[in-house]
Amino acid sequence: MRKENEIYIFQKGFNYSQDGPGNRLVYHLAGCNLKCPWCSNPEGMEITKNATPVTIEAIVKEAISCKMMYFDGGGVTLTGGEVTCQKDSVQSLLEQLRENNINSCIETNASLKNCKEIFEVVDYMIADFKSPDPEKLKEVTGADIEVIKENLFFRAQTGKPLLIRIPLINDFNNGKKNAVLFADFFKKLYEKSGNENLYFEILTYHEFGKEKYEKQGKIYTIENGFVSPEDVKILAEEIKKNNLNLIHT
Ligand code: SF4
Repeated sequence: MRKENEIYIFQKGFNYSQDGPGNRLVYHLAGCNLKCPWCSNPEGMEITKNATPVTIEAIVKEAISCKMMYFDGGGVTLTGGEVTCQKDSVQSLLEQLRENNINSCIETNASLKNCKEIFEVVDYMIADFKSPDPEKLKEVTGADIEVIKENLFFRAQTGKPLLIRIPLINDFNNGKKNAVLFADFFKKLYEKSGNENLYFEILTYHEFGKEKYEKQGKIYTIENGFVSPEDVKILAEEIKKNNLNLIHT
């Protein structure tokens, strides 16, 4: 049975720059509410399967003991799976990291309701925006685009850093029509929030999860998700045309 003061973790380690600023201690939290067929961590989909419960106290103690390692503005990152699936424990952990002056970051799909306390307290937030097409997004991942948009507006309006990542995938969200819709939403987000710490990044499709799916006896359903340099250019140009901060971590 899950306990309030525990967090289920299926992987941890240090990483530089791709999971938030600087050098970071990264915890992969188990459990996800979506079903993206390209997921690179299918082993972390269920909270209690393949994961170890660790007390918040133990994580904070470990995070404090690693302070010397957080160079270049680093700290602790919680990623997944989907961190908000363990929201009460995550919120408590983020508050304790703050009390101990440790920079915090989460990577989230931003698709769950009632997580605003987390989106407010965390120092740096990385969120996916997978498709601007509500039906396609729902059909492929199970996510409700309106919930995601509301969460992203909420975070943007705090003025704190928000990095939005687009996993660019052939036959899912590439092409000019999608690029225009992506940029339209990002522009609205920037104009409505006035957040100067809003960043965007394009991640091109990869198949890091394919072997893991097959090892678990699951079928990997994407047949040709790789995008061309032209696909990347189309989306990058739409984002830059709107004077938005396109970055590469
Ligand atoms: S939201 Fe992330 S962790 Fe969840 S299924 Fe999609 S890619 Fe995997």
